[in-house]
Amino acid sequence: MCGILGISCNNCHKEGQQVFHRLMTCGNDISHRGEQAWGILTSNNKNNMFCYRQEGRFSEGITEKKVAALVKKMQGNKGLAHTLYSTIGKSGQKKQPRSIQPWMAVFHDRPFGLAYNGNIYDLSSLRERAKKAGWAFRSDVSDTEVIVALIATSQKKDFIEALKEILPLFRGAFALAILYDSKIIGVRDRCGIRPLCIGYNEDSYILSSESCVFYPIAAKFLREVRPGEIVVIGDEGIEKHIKWTDDTCCRFCIFEFVYFARPDSRLCNGRSAYYYRNKAGIILAKEAPVKADLIISVPAGGDIFAESYASELGIPLRHGLFKNRFGIRTFMAPRGTDRRKLQRIKLHPLEEVIWGKRVCLIEDSIVRNNVCPEVVAMCFEAGAIAVHVRVASAPIIAPCYYGIDMSTRAELAASNFTVEQIKEQIGVDSLAYISFDGMIKATGLPKENLCLACFDGNYPVPPPVEIS
Ligand code: SF4
Repeated sequence: MCGILGISCNNCHKEGQQVFHRLMTCGNDISHRGEQAWGILTSNNKNNMFCYRQEGRFSEGITEKKVAALVKKMQGNKGLAHTLYSTIGKSGQKKQPRSIQPWMAVFHDRPFGLAYNGNIYDLSSLRERAKKAGWAFRSDVSDTEVIVALIATSQKKDFIEALKEILPLFRGAFALAILYDSKIIGVRDRCGIRPLCIGYNEDSYILSSESCVFYPIAAKFLREVRPGEIVVIGDEGIEKHIKWTDDTCCRFCIFEFVYFARPDSRLCNGRSAYYYRNKAGIILAKEAPVKADLIISVPAGGDIFAESYASELGIPLRHGLFKNRFGIRTFMAPRGTDRRKLQRIKLHPLEEVIWGKRVCLIEDSIVRNNVCPEVVAMCFEAGAIAVHVRVASAPIIAPCYYGIDMSTRAELAASNFTVEQIKEQIGVDSLAYISFDGMIKATGLPKENLCLACFDGNYPVPPPVEIS
């Protein structure tokens, strides 16, 4: 999962008003989608492109002096930004160069930039095709590079025609923001699994993974890029929108509502992640009430669920776990990182709140079950006399092949153990998940509009041969 952003600003030619400033402002609001690396690419009216990429969280380590130097260098009124969360490079796999985006390449003598979110698989034949056409690959596993390579080596003369030629070759889920010939181009996979929306203000059009980026530049939500659609944005707004396939459906990733997206983002048919989290807390309270003195959110993913769960049951909600605001999101830490140790860095229990109490922890999800046992242990160490856990998404039983880092059944707790066994492993007095139907109900969307594959194994796009 990554964050992508594209801005076309028709008022950014003025000195000191480069699009770079807006990308820096808005990029911050997609930083939660990837904290491993980030990049910005800009283009001026002469089609010169400038790119800056860096490891780490968005804008981390950028000094005023550095910004001043970048403002001078990163000219132009069109640009892209990307925040990276890599789903490749599993432990034991050969180390690959990290594919920090946006990528830059050339299509028939004109440069283009590309920012990508998703996961595309079964790439060997496409990789061979690009190699035969003259592309020298830097990475053996980067799906982004395959997309870039196929565009760059296409024989089609027109860029959109090249996209229409290659997009049907991809299996998986993707959203793209492309900068070519002074246009920002948005593309979404045929099932609309990964999010991409369009906003506007008085002088800009913005393409983004999430609508929360619109607020700081006073932009309004216009619409989502539709499944299977290519949208071309120029100085005056949307210049063209076409379908790259007629075989479309809407199967939006429910995990965006559960965990990934910011609560203030409108995601699918106008539904926000807040809407889901608030409703799911209420439904969870009805389905799995608890006898406890306090409800405690496992921050920050559990916060909204915990509020509505506590309010529905009339049990006080207390901040029993203090979160280091500069800590990293444990689910997004690269594989191999000791996630249990990370919890102790990220969260500290508050004895004043927990001591002598029966507490109920609210989690957004349990994926590998390498986080929850540590949090529960911390509560007991802080003096809790009973600890219960309630989970605001159903048990995850199947891998995700569409860009979330859970690609094998072996790593998924609920794929290998019963709820009772997981309860024993966590060491809690009780454990309950929201039901599968309750989870769907909380979205306010029809089941047919959602990807639920990691919860029921029903994949909207046929999966690759499973790695387990
Ligand atoms: Fe989202 Fe799960 Fe579908 Fe992956 S499999 S896209 S995490 S709902």
